[in-house]
Amino acid sequence: MNAQATSTQNARIVVVGSLNADLSIYTQRLPRPGETLHGEGFTVNPGGKSANQAVAAGLLGGNVSLVGAVGQDSNGDMLLESCAAANVDIAHVRRADGVETGVAVVTVDAEGENSIVISAGANGTLSPADIASAASAFQGASVLCLCLEVRLETVEAAALAGAQAGAKVLLNLSPYAPIPPGLARLANVLLVNAHEASQFLGGARIPGPEATVSAWVPVLEHLVERGLQSAVVTLGAHGSVVLDSEAIEDRRVVRIAPTRVAAVDTTGAGDAFTGGLAARLAAGDTLANAAAFASVGAALAATKKGTQAAYPDAAAVNAKRE
Ligand code: ATP
Repeated sequence: MNAQATSTQNARIVVVGSLNADLSIYTQRLPRPGETLHGEGFTVNPGGKSANQAVAAGLLGGNVSLVGAVGQDSNGDMLLESCAAANVDIAHVRRADGVETGVAVVTVDAEGENSIVISAGANGTLSPADIASAASAFQGASVLCLCLEVRLETVEAAALAGAQAGAKVLLNLSPYAPIPPGLARLANVLLVNAHEASQFLGGARIPGPEATVSAWVPVLEHLVERGLQSAVVTLGAHGSVVLDSEAIEDRRVVRIAPTRVAAVDTTGAGDAFTGGLAARLAAGDTLANAAAFASVGAALAATKKGTQAAYPDAAAVNAKRE
């Protein structure tokens, strides 16, 4: 492990958002409306975008606090155990009464294509009051991770608290929903896949994986018009692109090549990427260097089934980078 990979110990990362139990069933193909199919296996695993991001960062040595809500049920127990096993501080995960833990019902076909239905459950109760209760976690935080699996007013309250604390605010626009301009301006880094990037920019054409670096300049300019300083656009098996208006001129667009792996299950690769990015930004890396590290961690996460159980530690990422 290099010196950089161990220096994530102190700078705190706060992750605010969702915890879900992933109820997954594997089939040859996805069912048509009204159709019943036989599945080939069923698993219940810890998931939810924010829990995934927190666990990914925790496994990489980050000092992570998760702010969220689960019910008083066994799925809630499972999620908290998984976070704790990755050294994630769960003091600000509230156990809600009278509502079940969030669930995602996932169907995965033989090609790895999936269809997902989410029931927010306790995640839907996470409110600005929870952000106020977690003030001690925000104090001195260096990085804040947000996604859109919880109420928008809660995301906005968290972004404000993060900005006031001087944290770098990472906003993952997933699952996609339009956001108010004020929230975009509070985000330091927008994390999107190509589809979400296009939606955020009003249907703008996003360059394909073979595009030159200069083809991305208009996308960066468009983001800056929307009040953003920087973004990372993930391109699945094609890697990612870092757009940073504050970098020196020839580093404003940096193409991160994919790490070649035999992918088995890419579910949660985006969250592994976000967690890795947060861990390295908290350690003081530039956005482009943090993204290069995150890209390797996300590729390794795709080599095993499941989400959190597939996430690598810093030693595994560094070994793959050598
Ligand atoms: P999800 O919502 O399923 O987590 P996403 O759409 O947010 O995914 P992707 O762009 O699919 O995110 O993947 C995130 C990152 O993971 C990519 O930028 C890449 O670094 C890595 N990755 C994903 N799939 C592969 C793959 N097959 N091989 C190598 N790296 C991959």
